[in-house]
Amino acid sequence: MKIGIVGLGLIGGSLGLDFRALGHQIYGLSRSQKTCELAIRKRAADFASSDPSILTPAEVVFLCPPIASIPTVFAQIKPSLQPQAIVTDVGSVKGAIAPLLHQQWPYFIGGHPMAGTAESGIEAALSNLFSNRPYVLTPLDKTSSVALETVQELVKELNATLLLASPTDHDRAVSLISHLPIMASAALISTCMVRENDAVVTLAQALASSGFRDTSRVGGGNPELGRMVAEFNQEELLRSLDIYEQQIQALRETILQQDWEQLDFYLTQTQQARPAFLTE
Ligand code: NAP
Repeated sequence: MKIGIVGLGLIGGSLGLDFRALGHQIYGLSRSQKTCELAIRKRAADFASSDPSILTPAEVVFLCPPIASIPTVFAQIKPSLQPQAIVTDVGSVKGAIAPLLHQQWPYFIGGHPMAGTAESGIEAALSNLFSNRPYVLTPLDKTSSVALETVQELVKELNATLLLASPTDHDRAVSLISHLPIMASAALISTCMVRENDAVVTLAQALASSGFRDTSRVGGGNPELGRMVAEFNQEELLRSLDIYEQQIQALRETILQQDWEQLDFYLTQTQQARPAFLTE
């Protein structure tokens, strides 16, 4: 299949690497000539250019720029697409984007691969990034069945775990397990930066090991992504932050009251809930 990829960054480049390795022909659109050359050298694209007409042969086009740029980028490439081309995006928020593009293109289907690293750009692109990871598609009632079936097949070829959800349910769910953790983890890192006592902070830094690495990872990722999810999923993120704040307040009160039994009960519940939540 001829696949167009717009925005040859971490996600776009990684899709290019996998689809090309699967035998598809990749047509990349990047704003930078240097990125085009690197994408071809890395085998993330067969052809790449900063001219949108590179996408004309594509049967399916993946929109992979930052969330805020998806509608503008789509408007720029639209005149170069075949009328039957299937278009999908990879944006981490769906409610603000998917219905808008549905209105503008009959063969649009929203998507979100739940995979990433703390890096960005074509240099960070990785093979098999999506393997065994969830990949959500967000069809609406009016979504073309050809678009849905074609993108579903491509997602399965990536060896990703396919899920279908409405844009609203998607945004509510990712606010809990992805967007809230970014903010909570960023707040954790910031807490460690509060230098009430330089010697203690220096010691904490020397002592930081796997636990801190795990809990600080998503807060130390690409700031642009964190800003975009907050801006475009504000309502759901605020709802999740409110619940989180209540949990922190309750924990604080329990510790203040030295209610160790209650704390034990709370932590036993979370210990049991975690494996169940991650495997069910
Ligand atoms: P990235 O590595 O920064 O790649 C985005 C690419 O988009 C850039 O390399 C650039 O490519 C292009 N771009 C940047 N600004 C642009 C603009 N103003 N107009 C047009 N193109 C622009 O970011 P990413 O992590 O791949 O994220 C891309 C998309 O994937 C986002 O919508 C994000 O929500 C989604 N996503 C990210 C993750 C993650 O964990 N990182 C996971 C799932 C989904 P060129 O230089 O080639 O133009």
